[in-house]
Amino acid sequence: METHGAYVATNEGSAVFETYNLEIHAWHGCNLACESCAHYSSLGFRGGPTAEMCENWMELWAARLRPRIFSILGGEPTLNRDLERIIRSAARIFPDSAIRIVSNGFLLGKHPGLVSLLSELRGRAHLEISVHHGSEEFQSRFRPVMELVKQWQASGTDIRMRLASTAWTRRYKMNGNQIDFPDGDPVSAWSSCYGKGCKQLYMGHLWKCAPIAYFGLWPSNVSVEPVWQNLADSYTPLLADCSDDELGSFLGCREEAVCRLCPSQLEKFELPIPFRSPGVASENDQSRRRR
Ligand code: SF4
Ligand code: SF4
Repeated sequence: METHGAYVATNEGSAVFETYNLEIHAWHGCNLACESCAHYSSLGFRGGPTAEMCENWMELWAARLRPRIFSILGGEPTLNRDLERIIRSAARIFPDSAIRIVSNGFLLGKHPGLVSLLSELRGRAHLEISVHHGSEEFQSRFRPVMELVKQWQASGTDIRMRLASTAWTRRYKMNGNQIDFPDGDPVSAWSSCYGKGCKQLYMGHLWKCAPIAYFGLWPSNVSVEPVWQNLADSYTPLLADCSDDELGSFLGCREEAVCRLCPSQLEKFELPIPFRSPGVASENDQSRRRR
């Protein structure tokens, strides 16, 4: 069997592929709006998958993939009221993986059960809080989050803080309501890509990265030129009934035509304060994706 991803043969002789990191959206929408968010969560889509959907998607790959880290994120995962169930299921379905939950922190107070769950999973699971701006305006609203984090840390919860805004780069530009992609050179875009270690599990399929998986998960008033829609439509995610060769090739794949969605060179810019005004109610996932 020709494979390009790391794999280990089990006693039964079937291939189990090791990968560094596999990610799942526990919710697509976000309470913040960071410009040029690679998951498009800043653009205003308000849905997210149910816990049952996440479980079904994870079960499809459990026997074939062994991620070193299984990441539960979004969007903002705490917008899913069943987040604890998703974390518990991920720990059960991927028993050899470390579980990482990534949140911007603002809605942690809605999930007091996280403290006991993370204590139950001590040594295996941690919460990573991304801090999305250094300004006094942002930090003054972030203070209650820090107070809660300190309380939870004092009770032994593994919480790691990450300043996300200092090395912020642009994926695409908004021109009014139109999303414009940079048309990068795929080889250069891949070589400078921050997302190469972020394979996505979405709709039961494996996707190369977030910008491809969640392409189109934006409100209906956001438009995109046909060239970008056609490029995204030309990408085929990996289905769970794939062969071992196909899975090995997927895990080892580098640049592809669809990497034109990304810039040839990373463009750093100062992230504007990402607060958004209160919006409409959330809904469960009813993706408009074609797959
Ligand atoms: S916090 Fe910012 S970067 Fe993270 S999902 Fe929300 S909008 Fe995107
Ligand atoms: S499209 Fe290619 S360059 Fe862009 S994030 Fe995905 S893997 Fe990286």
